[in-house]
Amino acid sequence: MIDIVILNRNLRLHDNAALFYGSLRSNYIVIYLYDENYWEANGKSTRQLKFSNDCIEELDNSLQDIGSEINIFEGSFNDLKKWIEANFIDYFIHMNHCTDISYFRKGFEKFKKDFGSKLRVYDDFGLQLTNFDRDAWSKNWNRIMHADLLKSPMINKNANEINLIKFNDYKNKTKGKFVELPNIQKGGSSEAKELLESFLKNRCDGYRTKMSSPSLSEDSCSRLSPHFTYGSISIRQVYQRLNELLPFSDHKVDLYSFKKRLYWHCHFVQKLHTEPELEFHSMHRMCDKLRTEYDDEMIDKWIKGETGFPFLDACMKFLNANGWINFRMRAMIMSFASYNMWQPWQKTSPLLAKLFTDYEPGVHISQVQMQSGVTGINLPRIYSVSKQSMDQDPNAEWTKKLLPQLDNFDPKLIHNAELNGSYIPQIVNLKTSAKFARDQIWGIRKSIEFKNEARKVYLKHGSRRKRYSNTS
Ligand SMILES: Cc1cc2nc3c(=O)[nH]c(=O)nc-3n(C[C@H](O)[C@H](O)[C@H](O)COP(=O)(O)OP(=O)(O)OC[C@H]3O[C@@H](n4cnc5c(N)ncnc54)[C@H](O)[C@@H]3O)c2cc1C
Repeated sequence: MIDIVILNRNLRLHDNAALFYGSLRSNYIVIYLYDENYWEANGKSTRQLKFSNDCIEELDNSLQDIGSEINIFEGSFNDLKKWIEANFIDYFIHMNHCTDISYFRKGFEKFKKDFGSKLRVYDDFGLQLTNFDRDAWSKNWNRIMHADLLKSPMINKNANEINLIKFNDYKNKTKGKFVELPNIQKGGSSEAKELLESFLKNRCDGYRTKMSSPSLSEDSCSRLSPHFTYGSISIRQVYQRLNELLPFSDHKVDLYSFKKRLYWHCHFVQKLHTEPELEFHSMHRMCDKLRTEYDDEMIDKWIKGETGFPFLDACMKFLNANGWINFRMRAMIMSFASYNMWQPWQKTSPLLAKLFTDYEPGVHISQVQMQSGVTGINLPRIYSVSKQSMDQDPNAEWTKKLLPQLDNFDPKLIHNAELNGSYIPQIVNLKTSAKFARDQIWGIRKSIEFKNEARKVYLKHGSRRKRYSNTS
């Protein structure tokens, strides 16, 4: 009997259930499924692939130290199924669960059905994969976070060659795609551990206040998000290390704030797992009727950072170049698209997702819907670009760095986008567009029908943790 471990987004050696349990008989092969169509599907992009490849490279090196390696299978789940059946008779497959976009989910669901009891899928993120019970969710999550970490896999004694390409050949094939991405975060478990240690010990100082500033947050946020997405570190590893250091930290308030967010992450991923239709439909279905028309030209200007609002455009330029921006700016960017531009989130969300190295469909889709006012269970909030510009970049230094053509302008003029023909024309009027959006969104929320439906959404998806109620 041979054990086949299939990797997707859990790219680490330690605390990796599929790798650990798949290695117990010391007779295993490890396969990474590379499906080109997946990387072109809803919200996926080359910058994410680059990060994922860094993670695979480090994991491949670590596996070689224990007599194993990563084999790359190029194709779909269905192609992989045929290949396994053609090459093995006595086998058992191990995979970690992954809540992902519909392209992945459909392939994965069929794969699970095809192999039935020959495949074991392991839980991830503290999700409730079956027997979903929102009331018990938090307790279950805590139990999983406190459980012992899984050790590294056993040494592999299987020396049989298999007819798949190795990581280096695959790397050479794909590296041409990455030449224009010099600023994207580097992937891999050692990078994740360094970020974790530096954050918990030093960088977290002032996290709670600095996290909203686009310039300060670059260093004062953990920057672990793409590592969670590609699994170069597990949330449980981070949670347990945090608990070890917390009692001795001088920055307890900051670290508690960080701890809450680890919970939010999983809470949001659970929503997409429970209701995969959320990838395309609003949590509160009546909200799908709000924005029925779209304007491709306007959306194009937004995603390129050519809206005529300097602070917003600076955020977009920064995100385009770096693959990351802080939470507050993401919320403002999305709020602008959904409220001021009044565009359907289904059109704008995948374009934004492509720019994030950390694109995590469960978190992204929940957040996009919250910032578009379509969940029914969160109070709509329209971010004012002028106010954010004033609050988060009072001297407009950060904006000027990204838009050097505005170097000689007074910060006040930049905040209010009053640049008298010296900058790109504004694509909307901030005040009238916000008023229109407010009227529409509060108008629909008034009816009994809306409220009844919102109650159902809460029962299915709402957080039961009082302390975390602002996440809903
Ligand atoms: C429109 C929009 C889209 C977003 N899309 C994504 C996405 O695709 N992937 C993603 O990981 N995050 C997303 N976020 C949430 C948040 O902005 C990022 O998690 C955070 O900025 C990542 O940086 P960090 O790791 O330094 O965060 P830190 O502040 O250091 O937080 C630590 C971790 O907590 C989690 N976290 C933090 N804030 C949130 C939040 N509000 N909701 C859920 N989890 C959170 C993340 O896993 C993060 O890595 C989105 C937010 C918005 C408003």
